Parts: sequence; structure tokens; C-alpha cells
Amino acid sequence: MQEKFQLHAITVDPIRLPQLAEKKVEADILRLDKIHPLVSGNKWFKLRFYLDEAIAQQKKNIVTFGGAWSNHILATAAACHISNLKSIGIIRGEETATPSPTLVQAKEAGMQIVFINRQDYADKKIPADLKKDEYYFIPEGGFGEKGVDGAATILDYCNKENYTHICCAIGTGTMMAGLVKASASQQQVIGISVLKNNLALEENVKTLSGHSAHHFQINHDYHFGGYAKHKTPLLDFMNNFYRQTNIPTDFVYTGKLVYAITDLITADFFPTSSRLLLIHSGGLQGNSSLDKGKLIF
Ligand SMILES: *Cc1c(COP(=O)(O)O)cnc(C)c1O
Repeated sequence: MQEKFQLHAITVDPIRLPQLAEKKVEADILRLDKIHPLVSGNKWFKLRFYLDEAIAQQKKNIVTFGGAWSNHILATAAACHISNLKSIGIIRGEETATPSPTLVQAKEAGMQIVFINRQDYADKKIPADLKKDEYYFIPEGGFGEKGVDGAATILDYCNKENYTHICCAIGTGTMMAGLVKASASQQQVIGISVLKNNLALEENVKTLSGHSAHHFQINHDYHFGGYAKHKTPLLDFMNNFYRQTNIPTDFVYTGKLVYAITDLITADFFPTSSRLLLIHSGGLQGNSSLDKGKLIF
């Protein structure tokens, strides 16, 4: 695995599509996917302050939870490897005969993988034998205040005052809360939820960001069946978007984000002369769970 995260590789790329020109809306995309070939995207940002605290507390073992295809698990493994910390990933469900590429790569980065059943996972039970050594716990997906503050630093990598709207995909809402915190009150943060009917999000983002809801909006209409579910129109869209812009997206998060935003632009959701910043939050490694040939990149 390539060692370091390449923060200097982040770029702000204009999105040039006929639909945008027609509606007189401009959009840039912040390419967090470029920071690492495997551990692309927002996960390092959400982890950074947890890891700083673990190091300050001289904790050597990091424990966290995730699924077998989790971007968070792989990012934790890589970030701990770089910081000389031991990482332990507690994975939902039974061990499969062939491990996912995500878990293979996490192991290569030195992560110890422990499987627990779905009930214990839902209860977030840490197996007793892992508790012998002093450990530092990071919530699944970096959810929590430190994750929010880390995500707020994402906007240090662009001229954030240039934009009227900041748009992102939402899983737990941690990244969105950070973006809300880091943006000005006259800006709108638009989040596209990739889960079906996750209606607790509004409250979570409000609590985590400390901002009222007039500063952000969550759209629940573009989940394509639910978390990590997809349909042919989404994959067709991602292929077309790649042909037109040369920008790869992932089918769990950023593909749904870009699909939703272009659809909303066509539907006149954004006023004329809006200047949008889309966050490319990475996640490209997850595309390896799709059958070969479905994506052209
Ligand atoms: C985890 C993840 C998100 C969602 O972040 P949350 O803070 O959980 O809302 C978005 N995009 C990608 C690629 C991710 O891996």
C-alpha cells in the first residue's frame, strides 16, 4: 500500500456539462479522491483529530467498527499504519471464504480483523479479549465531534467563499455537519442521503454542527434503493459523467451525489448564477464490489 496521504494532490476541477451552461449554474468539484489511490476521500479528514488525541494520550491500539466493504475501515488501517499505531477492525457478520478486497488491503496495512455477529455488532460490543490492552476507540464512520471538526478542515482546500452552495453525499452526516460548521451563514449546504428514509439525519446534523436547519438542506430522493444499492441508470450516469469529464465516481456515495445535483439543476432547484462546490468524498475502492465491465473506469 502506498504510504502517505497526498493532500497537495487535491484539486478544484470545473464540471463542464451542457445542462449547467443551459441553466447558467456553475459547479466545481473538490477532488478529495486524489489523496490516496485506495484510501480516497473524506475518511482521513474525519479520522485526523481522533488519531491526534490517541497519540496525545499515548494509546497504541485503535479499535473501530465497520462492514466488509467499509471505506472507514480501510482508511483507519492506512492512517494507523502511517502513524505507527496498531489498528483493530471489528467487522459486521461472518467471515467469508474469500475476504473482500477492502479487508485484504486493510490487513496488508497491518490491521487485525475480528468478525462479530450482527447482533453484537448492532450493540457495538467490543470482544473482551480486545479490552486487555489499553485501546482508543473511534466510532464507526468517525461519527462524533472530532469527526465533525476534522471534516470542517475539508474546506481549507478550496476558496470556500466563492460558492453559494456546497453539496455532499451523506452517510452518517458527520462530514456534512463539518461543512455546515465551516461555511458562512449565507451559504447553503445541500446533502444527498445515500440511505433510504434516514430521517434522523436532520436532527443529527443540527446537533453535530450546532447550526439551525436554515443553513442546510437534506434530500432523501436519490438513494437508488438504499445504502450500497444501485440501479442501471445510476451506473449509466456514472459512465457518461466519466466520458464527459474524466472524473470517476463511486456507486455508493459520489455517483448518487453527482446524479442528484445534475438532476436538481435540470429541475431548476438552484437559482440562476448559483456557484456550486461538490465534494468528491472518494470511496472509489468500493467499486471493486461491482461485476467487472459495469463501469468503464
Ligand atoms: C463515508 C463516506 C461519505 C459519508 O460521510 P458521512 O460523514 O458518514 O456522512 C461520503 N462519501 C464517501 C466516499 C464516503 O466514504
